[in-house]
Amino acid sequence: MAKLPTLAIVGRPNVGKSTLFNRLVGKKLALVDDRPGVTRDRREGDATLLGLEFRVIDTAGYEDEDPETLPGRMRAQTIAAVRESDAALFLIDARAGLTPLDEEIARWLRSETTPVVLAANKAEGRAGESGILEAYGLGLGEPIALSAEHGEGVVDLFEHIRPYVEREDGPEEELEDGEGPLKLAIVGRPNAGKSTLINRLLEQERLITGPEAGITRDSIAIDWEWETPDGETRPVRLIDTAGMRKKAKVEDKLEKLSVADARRAVDFAEVVVLLLDGTRGLEAQDLRIADNVLQEGRALIIAINKWDVAENQSALFNGIKAALEEGLSQARGVPLLAVSARTGKGLDQMLGAAFEVRDIWSKRVSTGQLNRWFEDAIERNPPPAPGGKRIKLRYITQVNTRPPSFVLFGTRVDQLPDSYLRYLVNGIRKELGFGAVPVRLSARASR
Ligand code: GDP
Ligand code: GDP
Repeated sequence: MAKLPTLAIVGRPNVGKSTLFNRLVGKKLALVDDRPGVTRDRREGDATLLGLEFRVIDTAGYEDEDPETLPGRMRAQTIAAVRESDAALFLIDARAGLTPLDEEIARWLRSETTPVVLAANKAEGRAGESGILEAYGLGLGEPIALSAEHGEGVVDLFEHIRPYVEREDGPEEELEDGEGPLKLAIVGRPNAGKSTLINRLLEQERLITGPEAGITRDSIAIDWEWETPDGETRPVRLIDTAGMRKKAKVEDKLEKLSVADARRAVDFAEVVVLLLDGTRGLEAQDLRIADNVLQEGRALIIAINKWDVAENQSALFNGIKAALEEGLSQARGVPLLAVSARTGKGLDQMLGAAFEVRDIWSKRVSTGQLNRWFEDAIERNPPPAPGGKRIKLRYITQVNTRPPSFVLFGTRVDQLPDSYLRYLVNGIRKELGFGAVPVRLSARASR
């Protein structure tokens, strides 16, 4: 696991460091108290902010230089934390205004090489405006107006810290993503051939362990190795669900079961194969399952089974392809394959495609490449100007992978029509190589 970039939160007691730490880490790890100096030990946690992941340190304090005293030791710890961090977030209390200790901390931070982001906390509503103005005087740039307690100013905070704590795009991460066993689930309507397919896969391949009970009450994982046509072996963890093994007697109960099974399997899978019964074509329930898989952000492959008995194969294939694209716009670009669980036809291609889409699903595009594409895309087709007022789009960033997720920043973005967001999503999928997987895009207002 690559080391995450680190942000140290600094500031005098009671400005809201622990409150912010808790908000970023999302658990009640730090003790919050009104009394100054309650925060004693340095706490670290993994933070998430609008999809940005980084390490955060809540520093102890900065009161006393004497290393023999408790405040002195806290000061030494704070200095060490700032020096080893990629950036320091310096909090002041906007309501209380600047104090001599704030100024002393500012002087010290200016002398350090760690980049500093300044935030005036407790600024919810319009509170603390004079404190914010005073904070400009610290010589640490423009302060962010923040409310750690109420979650205001989060986008500003994101924009200011992102340059320092955004993970570099490195081969390390891609390797890491491709390393583990491929978590694969096979879903589909009853009688599509799921059990036959799983048995076929397992009889051909070397079973490593299992079947083992345990991922949930109702599903099991089977670990095995796929031997590729090139003679390599690649680990696969097949997620099997109860519905595939135990068959209920009542037909409509079965129909319900397969949707519920699909949901459960999807929770654990990276890639989901939706198996269609080629003798029946594409039915409404198939579309519902596919839609659910994509909504959950999983990579999807659609395999038409029973190809060995399919009549008029090319008409069948093209008909399913057309119906899929019409019925589900997100399914455009998703791999569609013909297989036979009975004869084994197409199964190597299916597994090859599964590994391939996992790579795409885990891929991170560099901010530079992304924004070059983005500038071009908004020039080709500028955002509309509702009521004559321009929507200004500033930049886009990939905040997450698995699935690839993007956030767009600009002004008046709440007025962006869905059709424009779809235009951008289609561009990301078609032009940046994410075509086979679901992509998420949201827009956030920035100043
Ligand atoms: P620390 O000593 O810097 O870690 O500060 P704490 O996080 O313990 O917060 C000190 C006090 O300020 C607590 O009573 C918090 O509830 C309060 N506080 C923290 N953030 C905010 C904020 O955004 N707005 C307001 N009004 N109070 C806050
Ligand atoms: P499940 O309900 O999805 O688990 O489906 P099963 O694996 O039980 O298969 C349902 C029926 O379809 C069985 O009679 C299988 O023998 C048959 N079947 C499954 N795969 C194929 C295939 O590739 N070709 C043909 N001809 N029949 C198949």
